[in-house]
Amino acid sequence: MTIAVRPTTIAGDLFDLRTLEALRAQLDGDLITPERPEYDKARQVQDIAVDRYPLAIVRAASARDVAAAVQVAAAHALPLAVRGGGHSLARLSMADDALVIDLSAMRGISIDPETRIARVQGGVTSGDLAGPAGEHGLALTTGDTATVGFGGLASGGGLGFMARKYGMTIDNLLSAQVVTAAGEIVTASPNEHPDLFWAIRGGGGNFGVITEFTLRLAEVPQILGGVLLLPATREVLRGYLEYTATAPDELSTIANLMLGAPFPYTPEEWYGKPVVMVIVCWSGDLEAGERAIAPLRALAEPIADTIAPGPYSSIYDWTAHQEVRHSFSLRSMYANELSDAALDAALEAIANASSPYSLIHLRGLGGALNRVMPDATAYAHRHQRYMYTIIGLWMDADEDPEPHSAWTLSLWEKVRHEGDGVYVNFLQNEGPERVRDAYPPATYARLREIKRRYDPTNLFRLNQNISPAG
Ligand SMILES: Cc1cc2nc3c(=O)[nH]c(=O)nc-3n(C[C@H](O)[C@H](O)[C@H](O)COP(=O)(O)OP(=O)(O)OC[C@H]3O[C@@H](n4cnc5c(N)ncnc54)[C@H](O)[C@@H]3O)c2cc1C
Repeated sequence: MTIAVRPTTIAGDLFDLRTLEALRAQLDGDLITPERPEYDKARQVQDIAVDRYPLAIVRAASARDVAAAVQVAAAHALPLAVRGGGHSLARLSMADDALVIDLSAMRGISIDPETRIARVQGGVTSGDLAGPAGEHGLALTTGDTATVGFGGLASGGGLGFMARKYGMTIDNLLSAQVVTAAGEIVTASPNEHPDLFWAIRGGGGNFGVITEFTLRLAEVPQILGGVLLLPATREVLRGYLEYTATAPDELSTIANLMLGAPFPYTPEEWYGKPVVMVIVCWSGDLEAGERAIAPLRALAEPIADTIAPGPYSSIYDWTAHQEVRHSFSLRSMYANELSDAALDAALEAIANASSPYSLIHLRGLGGALNRVMPDATAYAHRHQRYMYTIIGLWMDADEDPEPHSAWTLSLWEKVRHEGDGVYVNFLQNEGPERVRDAYPPATYARLREIKRRYDPTNLFRLNQNISPAG
C-alpha cells in the first residue's frame, strides 16, 4: 500500500487538526485524510494532469455534511473546493491544501412518472439519470458524456443532446437545495430565494453547493441516435452548420472534426484521416426523424452511419470514449456566423493535429435554447447559432502538454475574432476577462450583486469566479 505524501504539508499554525477530527465526528459520510489508503483515489479527477494534495476530502452523504464542511472552511479560512463529477475543464474541483467537498457518493435519484418530476442528489451524473428515467419513457437533456456531473454541468447551464428541443438543463430545473456560504441549507426556486435560483442557473459554483436538483423530465420513449461519419471538407462543415441551427427542434447534433479513430464502425482506410463525426440525437416521431436526418446524410457519401432507434440512454454509447481519463488544452467560443476562413483553418489544423485525439468540436444551437429570454437565467447566451471549440487532447499523464497547447492556441488566434461570448463550462483557467465573456455586462453585474449577498467573503472562489469585490 502506498500512502500519498505531499512534498509540503499545510502549516500547523494555519489549522488545528483536531478540528478535522471534530468534523469527522459530525459527518454522515466520511472524511478522507492523507494517511488513509483511499486518499490517492479520492483526489483523482477526470483530468490526468491534475495531481493535487488536498488537506482532506469530505465524502459527503447528506446536505448536513456539506453544511458542516462549509462551516469549517469558513471558520478556518480554508480554501474550499467542490467536486461533483470531477470533469472541471479548468481543473478547479481538486486543490492543494483545500478542504474538498466530494459529492460523488450523493447519487440518489427519485422519479415520479406521473408528474415527470425527478429529484437527483448533487453528485449524480448524466449517465446515472438516463437509465432510470428511460424506464419510464422519460429523459432530461444533459451533457454529451455519461460521467459528467450534474453539479458542475447544471450550475453552468447544461448544454445537452436534446438542447434544441428542451433548452439547457437549467431550463428544466424547478428548484434546488443549496448549501450557502453561511452553511445554511435553503431551497432556491421561483418563490424561495428567487435571486439565488436565478444565479445558480448559469453562474457556476459561485453561490453555494447544490445538494439536490428538482427537474421536469420530458417524454422521450425513444430516440434516433448514432453517428454519421462524413469526409472532412469545407462543404460538409458548411452544410452541417447551415442545417443544424435551423433543423426541426427535435434534432440536436454535435460535429467533431477529428482524425478517424479505430471505432468498430470506422472503415480501416479512414483511420488517421480527417473526418467529421456527427453525433445525432432525434427526440421525436421516428419517421419524421428519418426525414429530418436526410439532409445530413446527403452532405456527402457517409463513411459510416450507425443511426438507429433506441432509448435515450443509448446516445451515450457513442461518446463512451470520452469517459476515459485524459487531459486537454481547450479554447471555446460562441459565434453567430462562421466564415469559410474559420472552417478552412479548422481543416488545416486537424490535418496537422497535435495528437490522434485532438479535435474541433462544433455545435449547432438555436431551437428552444434560444427562445428563453436572456435575462431569465444567469446563462444568457440565447441568441448564438454555433459553438466552436478547439481541443488539443492527450491521454498520457507523462506527455508534454506544450505541443497540444500550442496547437490549440494557434488555431484559436486565427478564429477568436469571430467569437461572441463563451460558455462558462467550456473555459479553462483563462483569466477574469474571459469569465466576463461568459456573461453579458448586465448579467455579470447582477451576478456580482447576488454574490455579495450570498457569499460576501468569496468562500466559493475555486470556480470561474465572480468576485464580490468587483
Ligand atoms: C468529457 C467532457 C464532456 C463535456 N461535455 C459537456 C456537454 O456536453 N455539455 C456541457 O454543458 N458541458 C460539458 N462539459 C463541461 C462540464 O459541464 C463542466 O466541466 C462541468 O463543470 C463538469 O461538472 P462536474 O460536476 O463533472 O465537474 P467538477 O469538476 O466536479 O466540478 C466543476 C466545478 O463545478 C462546481 N460544482 C460541482 N458540483 C457542484 C455542486 N453540486 N454545486 C455547486 N457547484 C458545483 C464547482 O465550482 C467545481 O469546481 C464536458 C466536460 C468534459 C470533461
